[in-house]
Amino acid sequence: MIKRAAADLAAARFGVALTGAGISVESGIPPFRGKGGLWEKIDPMEFAHIDNFMRNPAKVWRVLVGEMKGVIDTAEPNDAHKGLSTMERLGLIRTIITQNVDGLHQAAGSTDVIEFHGNFAWQRCMDCDHMLETRKVDMRQMPPRCHCGGIYRPDCVFFGEMIPPQHLARSRQVATQCDVMLVVGTSAVVQPAAFMPVIAKENGAKVIEINPEPTPLTSAVSDYLVQGKAGEVMSRIVAEIQAQHVSAKPFSP
Ligand code: NAD
Ligand code: ZN
Repeated sequence: MIKRAAADLAAARFGVALTGAGISVESGIPPFRGKGGLWEKIDPMEFAHIDNFMRNPAKVWRVLVGEMKGVIDTAEPNDAHKGLSTMERLGLIRTIITQNVDGLHQAAGSTDVIEFHGNFAWQRCMDCDHMLETRKVDMRQMPPRCHCGGIYRPDCVFFGEMIPPQHLARSRQVATQCDVMLVVGTSAVVQPAAFMPVIAKENGAKVIEINPEPTPLTSAVSDYLVQGKAGEVMSRIVAEIQAQHVSAKPFSP
């Protein structure tokens, strides 16, 4: 499976990756669903729905935002993020569509990252739109407030909110154009992100999944699943590509 994925990726003319919370698990950021996930501890609708944030921002800040800030502030990219940025340099992966809000793809050096659900590295004042880096937020005041008195909210998409239309449009576009889509660490149940591999498949792309568990895409949409942890599997695929296949292949415009 490693060899097969390496060969398919090495042959890609327009490769796109779709990533989810699972790719950052080896960086110490827990996923939402599944074993060890945040949803085992807290109820998503109670904490990650925009209506509840508006109703009681201090409560959501203390639990959801506080919990995520602690891990995201210190997390580093792992071999899976690094592998995707190496594949960009090799001309094999052009764009990453990520559902993650942790900024680790950019930290690993990937340059074309569509952040479907926004970014947690920044907080936005709900009154004046002032932006503040999350790591600079003073957690002693709950909820944290801007100098204008407005409340800060994460610059990411809550349940009950729309995906920014420009991100959705561009994701659909690259999903349509790609000839290989690599789906890493997503449970593929959050729409509309989970629909991107379907678009890719319908337009003739090969869909390769990397995940320790099968997902609703496996067998229904994906050509095959490389079963395992993202960092381990990706570093083996990249080593195989470098040993067997490509020297740098610049993108044609
Ligand atoms: P998810 O939490 O629903 O599912 C995680 C998936 O990762 C599962 O399929 C699981 O089998 C897989 N997984 C677990 N360990 C893995 C590993 N080591 N390597 C590869 N895969 C592994 O994640 P989701 O589908 O991305 O949806 C949750 C939403 O929550 C996302 O859209 C995102 O916005 C948000 N979220 C983001 C982060 C982050 O930024 N790191 C973390 C948690 C949740
Ligand atoms: Zn303000």
